[in-house]
Amino acid sequence: LSQLFRPLDLLGMVYRTVRQGVIDMGAMFDLIDTPAEVTDAPAAVPLNVSRGAVRLENVRFGYDEREILKGIDLDVAPGSTVAVVGSSGAGKSTLARLLFRFYDVTGGRITIDGQDIAQVTQASLREAIGIVPQDTVLFNDTIGYNIAYGRAGASREAIHAAAHGAAIAGFIEKLPEGYDTRVGERGLKLSGGEKQRVAIARTLLKDPPILILDEATSALDSRTEAEIQATLERIERGRTTIVIAHRLSTIVHADQIIVLDAGRVAERGTHADLLRLRGLYAEMWTRQQAERDKAEAAE
Ligand code: ATP
Repeated sequence: LSQLFRPLDLLGMVYRTVRQGVIDMGAMFDLIDTPAEVTDAPAAVPLNVSRGAVRLENVRFGYDEREILKGIDLDVAPGSTVAVVGSSGAGKSTLARLLFRFYDVTGGRITIDGQDIAQVTQASLREAIGIVPQDTVLFNDTIGYNIAYGRAGASREAIHAAAHGAAIAGFIEKLPEGYDTRVGERGLKLSGGEKQRVAIARTLLKDPPILILDEATSALDSRTEAEIQATLERIERGRTTIVIAHRLSTIVHADQIIVLDAGRVAERGTHADLLRLRGLYAEMWTRQQAERDKAEAAE
């Protein structure tokens, strides 16, 4: 009987994880070990990333008949950072899933350095993109293994360097068994901030030209948030970055911000541009600032 329920369990897990936002796709595909819904085109060639320019042309998408994205145009210049904001359910995470080609667009196209991502091999696409998800999947294994997950066969030195870059090396070195300490359900429990640092370390080890950051919705304490923010800004340097943002305070310095509303880009520009516009973004900003002031007064 348990044999019968295993696939159901797995499906449940997949559904829950997908619902939670962009997840560690590699981990998921390894776990389910079945082909994804999306398959390589017969003439698929490896993606060749030269500069890392990402472009969305009139992208449309819906999970079912309901269209979530109704024609999105976006140009992300090589090495620049674009932040995607919008109310809950606006389609921010959906956009990230399309970039990773977890689903195929139903209209328009997404290109990287001019190559349609639907026409390149999925392996090469996923090799080029690093994701720091909202919720990192940790394996019941050592913390070293969990970091190295980004790169099979990574040397100990490379793992340590990535941990340093993600500002988690100090924490690990103080553990009684260091990098060999077991984590996960049956081991050490990591805080939200620590888990996110593991995800950052994985990404550093992977060293992708394109980065998707899915900011955690649950607020970290303000000190941890500031530390993570500093680390993220370091890893964004020199990479084309798309940030799915919930707290506007973390994206003030983005080169471009797009506000999704009702399936379309309602506003776009820098933080200063959008404040001047006095529209949706300015309203969200004022509201978040007021909440922040209130939280600080209560501390
Ligand atoms: P949040 O800020 O709350 O994370 P979001 O802007 O990231 O929201 P998405 O997660 O992209 O929003 O969801 C956009 C819409 O698509 C929502 O209405 C959601 O219910 C729907 N949706 C998301 N995932 C699926 C799915 N796998 N199947 C069907 N509908 C989905």
